[in-house]
Amino acid sequence: MQDASNSSSPAQPTPLLGIDLGTTNSLIAVWQEGKAQLIANALGEVLTPSVVSVDEDGSILVGKAARARLTTHPLRTAAAFKRFMGSDKRFELGEHRFSPEELSALVLGALKQDAEAYLGYPVSEAVISVPAYFSDEQRKRTVFAAELAGLKVQRLINEPTAAAMAYGLHEQKFERTLVFDLGGGTFDVTVLEYALPLIEVHASTGDNYLGGEDFTDALLLACLRDWQLTLDSLEAQALASLHDAIEQFKHDLGDGKWTLTWNGDGQAREWVLDELKLQGIWAPLLARVRAPIEQALRDARLSPKELDSLVLVGGATRMPQIQQLVAKLFGRLPYRHLDPDTIVALGAASQAACKARDAAIDELILTDVCPYTLGIAAQRGEENSGAFSPIIERNTVIPTSRVERFYSTHAEQKMVRIAVYQGERPWVRDNILVDSFEIELQPTGQIQSLDVRFSYDINGLLEVDVTFIETGHKHSHSIDRSPTGLDEQARLASHERLSRLKIHPRDALPNRTLLARLERAWMQSLGEERELIGSWLDAFNSVLAAQQAGDISRQRQQLSQALDELRY
Ligand code: AMP
Repeated sequence: MQDASNSSSPAQPTPLLGIDLGTTNSLIAVWQEGKAQLIANALGEVLTPSVVSVDEDGSILVGKAARARLTTHPLRTAAAFKRFMGSDKRFELGEHRFSPEELSALVLGALKQDAEAYLGYPVSEAVISVPAYFSDEQRKRTVFAAELAGLKVQRLINEPTAAAMAYGLHEQKFERTLVFDLGGGTFDVTVLEYALPLIEVHASTGDNYLGGEDFTDALLLACLRDWQLTLDSLEAQALASLHDAIEQFKHDLGDGKWTLTWNGDGQAREWVLDELKLQGIWAPLLARVRAPIEQALRDARLSPKELDSLVLVGGATRMPQIQQLVAKLFGRLPYRHLDPDTIVALGAASQAACKARDAAIDELILTDVCPYTLGIAAQRGEENSGAFSPIIERNTVIPTSRVERFYSTHAEQKMVRIAVYQGERPWVRDNILVDSFEIELQPTGQIQSLDVRFSYDINGLLEVDVTFIETGHKHSHSIDRSPTGLDEQARLASHERLSRLKIHPRDALPNRTLLARLERAWMQSLGEERELIGSWLDAFNSVLAAQQAGDISRQRQQLSQALDELRY
């Protein structure tokens, strides 16, 4: 393996890369020798936690080391920031302040480095997956995050569609399939049909604010209630440690372990759950899973019985309660034989190959849909301004271009305001404002007619063209300035800020990660176990100081394994 910076021969191939930028974990895959393969990070693992931490020396840590520091240094560490993509939320980590897309850029940058180390030459473009139900704004922010990381987005692919693609390559079947994708922060339902070589998406719906993290948060709140504690009554570090313990407990529930023990605030505590109590805690979340399924089936004009198969994607579908609910809703067991954690990245790399017309895949044709209705604010009747007038209806096959005619409201009007909304409600106030802009009108003494054309491309990005019929005047608007204010200045400032950051060197990550894990384990343990972990920490620091690469690597492997066994 060569260093990326050493080679820049003009004959370098363009690697076909696919990235799953997840709420909890991110992955990168490459299309090589006729198939998609996952690329491991510096630790030799294919899952890189989507977590960023600022080290004491101000350098940036991404991945597993940062994840361990969520517990030990919660005020210097951020996780699950994908949930805030497209919002104004800022994360204060030590002396730094980041937007969600800047944090995502740091994760993408780490994946890019891993790919470069694996391939031995620089990479500059990739297919990136996004939740199908991501809004226009969230998609644009994802493209911007990639730009900040030095990656051109060849295409944004919807996560369930990517999964369907990976299954399609694997299965070669003719089927109507529902993809149920519950990740860390988002939920997508996609109904599609394999008529290979065609994969046709019929409907996509979802909930951008429902994911495995909500199930963890619900447990955390119920546990605090039972212990008569509140979120505010715990120190940041103790709360982070409890969150960590609850996350592990959520996984253990699947193995039938019902008791949580925790001593992160200096007091030994126990929380015992049973099936009934757990159902009660998760009932409101489980209820939210139903509506998008019903809508997707209705839009695809199918009943559950008419589906040939069900595919589960996303780490949160490992929860037995989710599997039971799905089995009950559809009266059958879902497909789960491809790993729900890795399938999206593999599908994204397959899409990169498809785009590049790789011989092994060029047969496959994929059609996708726009998952939500897009339209403008209009007046309905005499009184009702603020009505939502759809132009592209949800689940229209993309790319698409649709036009609707509108009229000025009075003869002397000098300005029209085009306000673009997305959503399914009759009044714009209940939908999401995507963008708005004003166009000057030359008064003609008469009511004027205008055609508003929406063009929605394969990446799910929208362009608006307005043509005034009487004057022939045309106005084109690509929606790149967001209502939340990401203008050119903000973009440049992000570039500038990120370029000044010191990123922790990749080859030092394995040692840094082990140290972070040992510190977390020490914090979370007590008594003899804590003494043992303390001795490991000292021993590893000594071996690091002696600078013998072979000894360091040997001891790192032993201690990592020992920590795995103790489940830290
Ligand atoms: P993803 O974004 O697809 O990586 O999904 C991450 C989500 O899956 C997180 O909320 C995890 O807590 C959840 N998850 C992963 N494995 C399990 C498991 N064995 N049991 C319960 N939840 C899990």
